[in-house]
Amino acid sequence: MKLLDGKTALITGGSRGIGASIVRLFAEHGAEIAFTYASSASSSETIVTELSGITKIKAYQSDAASITAAEKLVKDVMADFGKIDILVNNAGITKDGLLLRMSEEMWDTVIDVNLKSVFNLTKFAIKSMLRTGGSIINMSSVVGVFGNSGQANYAASKAGIIGFSKSVAKELGSKNIRCNVIAPGFISTEMTHVLDDSTKDAFLSNIPLKRLGESREIANTTLFLASDLSSYITGQVLNVCGGMAI
Ligand code: NAP
Repeated sequence: MKLLDGKTALITGGSRGIGASIVRLFAEHGAEIAFTYASSASSSETIVTELSGITKIKAYQSDAASITAAEKLVKDVMADFGKIDILVNNAGITKDGLLLRMSEEMWDTVIDVNLKSVFNLTKFAIKSMLRTGGSIINMSSVVGVFGNSGQANYAASKAGIIGFSKSVAKELGSKNIRCNVIAPGFISTEMTHVLDDSTKDAFLSNIPLKRLGESREIANTTLFLASDLSSYITGQVLNVCGGMAI
């Protein structure tokens, strides 16, 4: 059964990792897809070529941290696709460090790319959703719920996403716009491949399922929240973390 037939989805950070898995799964489920990247032009083109036989799909270079870029992106996507039914704010980065060594630049960049980006794009994308209804899915992290040493900037950005999303859910529920959050645990992508073995072992010892998650497992949850299977769910945070958050 295809769950997203007739829907158009805008997904940020679709060039690799979790975002690329979401792009592929949404395409399999019939959605037309606009996705963004920061600098991975060639892997984005590979994904477009791979999926263009299945659905209408286009990649856009767009800096998530820039409100001007977000306004232009939504204008371009509306011109190319005519509507936005689903918005997945997935783009994110880390710049880790203990607080004493965390520079203002490390703080500002992470807040801008991870949190301000969600405000930027949601603000413009809802103009289309106000006519049709829609589903917004924002990618937080278990770190945004529980905190993590060395990630004060990242945890603050991901906790901010939760407050933002609950507010949007309350503000726009009457327009049939739902807004939910996914809080992934420790997922195997380039973001986590850079961690050293002792950090990975420490994470694994706190995961009841005793393994890292796969991007596809986050994509499955995103599909559920994007589709009508979750039509009575809004303002919720789903921890997808192998039990790490118990
Ligand atoms: P990833 O493999 O590092 O991919 C990050 C994606 O975000 C890429 O597509 C990248 O584009 C894009 N991006 C980065 N900065 C951007 C910017 N300024 N403007 C537009 N796009 C930008 O990350 P991931 O592991 O898939 O993570 C995806 C999301 O899940 C993030 O929000 C992350 O915080 C969250 N998350 C991940 C984990 C995990 O364990 N992996 C856990 C919890 C939460 P380019 O390819 O062009 O750089």
